[in-house]
Amino acid sequence: MAKTYILALDQGTTSSRAIIFDQEGEVIAMAQKEFTQHYPEPGWVEHNPEDLWATQSSSAVEALTRAHLKPSDIAAIGITNQRETTLLWDRKTLTPIYPAIVWQDRRTAPLTDSLKAKGMEPLFKGRTGLVLDPYFSGTKIQWILDHVPGARERANRGELAFGTVDTWLLANLTQGKVHATDPSNASRTLLYNIHTKDWDDELLALLNIPRSILPKVQPSAGFFGISEGLIEGIPIHGIAGDQQAALFGQACFEEGMAKNTYGTGCFLLMNTGSQGVPSSHGLLTTVAWQIGDEYTYALEGSVFIGGAVIQWLRDGLEIILKAEESEALARSVPDSGGVSFVPAFTGLGAPYWDPHARGAILGLTRGTTKAHIARAALEAIALQSADILRAMEQDAQTTLQALKVDGGAVSNELLLEIQANVLGTPVIRTKCLETTAWGAACLAGLSAGIWANKRAIPLLSQGKSFMPQDEPHGIASMLDQWKRAVRQVQL
Ligand code: ADP
Repeated sequence: MAKTYILALDQGTTSSRAIIFDQEGEVIAMAQKEFTQHYPEPGWVEHNPEDLWATQSSSAVEALTRAHLKPSDIAAIGITNQRETTLLWDRKTLTPIYPAIVWQDRRTAPLTDSLKAKGMEPLFKGRTGLVLDPYFSGTKIQWILDHVPGARERANRGELAFGTVDTWLLANLTQGKVHATDPSNASRTLLYNIHTKDWDDELLALLNIPRSILPKVQPSAGFFGISEGLIEGIPIHGIAGDQQAALFGQACFEEGMAKNTYGTGCFLLMNTGSQGVPSSHGLLTTVAWQIGDEYTYALEGSVFIGGAVIQWLRDGLEIILKAEESEALARSVPDSGGVSFVPAFTGLGAPYWDPHARGAILGLTRGTTKAHIARAALEAIALQSADILRAMEQDAQTTLQALKVDGGAVSNELLLEIQANVLGTPVIRTKCLETTAWGAACLAGLSAGIWANKRAIPLLSQGKSFMPQDEPHGIASMLDQWKRAVRQVQL
């Protein structure tokens, strides 16, 4: 009988997870391991590369054990990963030359500032779809080559390999035989030209990075190699960065379809089809995935403080004990009573891009209670997401038909009701919330021939849809107050 199980490896920022899916999309087994975050200096965030591999490989072994399956029962591995995080290692021995510099790390701000001062941003933006920010891999690679003794010489001699986390896992899975990535990850490096679909020599020269250290870019759904060692003999058939994998896992296959992941922050991605749409609203243009010769692009925007505002109600204001209490508290009032909450704790992201803005709670009266503040906080998550979606619609010149949602905060149904009303668009929550891992499994399954094409992939069953009300109570004044409040925190 043909093998139909797929092993998804989901290497995230705080934990590594391995999930085995069957071809109906059912989770057969799962294992998860956390690892240590390192903060060696203010603004620096590092991971131990060996921890990433050890937690990922042992989770895979554990998931197989729990499922009572052998590696030979698995048809394919799909990899999805925290994006932009940067590693360099010795090609022969797979020994890292420095810890992984994590996407959140800000140490290369002086490098991006100096490129901006030289007027380089339009060049980078035009070719990579990204803004000049320490978030992306390019300046992190430059930093390692400049700061690790002997690194540049070794790189020039062809001894070193660079990779994002997908590439690191692939190298370890194949015991150093394969050095490759996919365009969804490559397009987060500041080095990959999303239009010519190749590493860009001019950008490499500007960042002083030798081409020899870069992985080969292969289709997201395609054969990458065969695993060796602990989980021996499984073909690796798919790779995608976590947010793009979630877009795929949410079956946002058509132009104009979008998903929003509500975690600490919110990540919104909209499929823009075969064209990379440049943004005039501060969004990123990125590759969603490559299947065969076909590239699909996305617009991406992120809200810095999403579910984190609920953490602040819990830990800062101490008006709730647990995140889930926010729903009952906010439901105890019909509206926010005129209160607007702009949670710009770390500045405002897209579409405002004001790093100096700070948070504010406005419109307080003698009648204001903690319930109004909780409600305004939930409204803020929805309103910030709506601002990004509106910017996406303008950039992509399309209208959103429905928003698919996932992430930890979507268990809050009031949040999703407010989101539907604010957007005037249905909000759809899947039953299985493992959309990122499922996306990686889908890409791998397509390449392994488990499904003939995207349409044959089973849709994750919808848990619940939240429909906008015809004339939602107080929406117009909520939007109006929000606009004014955002203007006020920018003054
Ligand atoms: P991450 O992947 O960023 O760690 P998760 O997807 O695990 O985040 O989601 C956790 C976030 O969701 C936290 O910020 C938490 O405050 C928020 N959250 C969890 N449950 C709820 C809830 N019922 N209502 C509102 N926010 C919630």
